[in-house]
Amino acid sequence: MAKIFCIANQKGGVGKTTTTVNLAAGLAQIGQRVLVVDLDPQGNATMGSGIDKRKLETTVYDVLLESSSIAEAKAWADKAGYDVLGANRELAGAEVELVELERREARLKSALAAAADSYDFILIDCPPSLSMLTLNGLCSAHGVIVPMQCEYFALEGLTDLVNTIKQIHANLNPDLQIIGLLRVMFDPRITLQQQVSDQLKAHFGDKVFDSVIPRNVRLAEAPSYGLPGVVFDPASKGAQAFVDFAKEMVKRIGAMR
Ligand code: ATP
Ligand code: MG
Repeated sequence: MAKIFCIANQKGGVGKTTTTVNLAAGLAQIGQRVLVVDLDPQGNATMGSGIDKRKLETTVYDVLLESSSIAEAKAWADKAGYDVLGANRELAGAEVELVELERREARLKSALAAAADSYDFILIDCPPSLSMLTLNGLCSAHGVIVPMQCEYFALEGLTDLVNTIKQIHANLNPDLQIIGLLRVMFDPRITLQQQVSDQLKAHFGDKVFDSVIPRNVRLAEAPSYGLPGVVFDPASKGAQAFVDFAKEMVKRIGAMR
């Protein structure tokens, strides 16, 4: 039975998609069966896994509207080594269409329940908002992985996310918990980042993952080749950090079960 995680942070450009595809590729490399669900109309996780979002006939949109199952709608990301339930611009319409429908926040959850036996990990790449799409993600998940940059305003944004997660935990999904905060695009030479990192650890204790993802240009270059950095340049510091993070996740999940 798969463990399901949302990669979420309502702040834009903090590294959600990079974390999703590289964690997925890292997990695949250590023998885990992985499904990536792209819940963002930008379709970056889809493209970054080597799947052309413009050519997809079925996407997560069809799954949310219950016209397709995940088994029918998924695509195999050959080089990355995992399945992808892709997204493209069409998904932006789902936001409006879902409002009219019953069980609107639980659509993804039902669909994932039917697919959960086929995977060890399901990773959901959320859009940069606390929208109906993100809500569907958070209602489906056992936990949230929060990538964050160690910058001054990072902690402020975290409060909103933590409150949202608490509300969903109380009202809609009692399974939901923060699995951990992942420090990304980290540069230890910058004093402020070191300070924010220390604050994070003081505040959140072991909810801060041990793994730290450095700022690394190879991770930024990889999507233009349709590959996660872990596959594009396995020897790079960024790739190695994500493989370490994948191992840390497997360990933590072992402790959760
Ligand atoms: P959005 O909110 O738009 O969905 P996001 O949170 O998914 O954004 P990403 O797309 O993963 O963020 O990353 C934003 C940018 O930063 C991208 O150009 C990505 O390549 C780059 N990036 C992410 N992580 C790293 C890193 N560790 N080192 C260098 N560049 C990075
Ligand atoms: Mg993204």
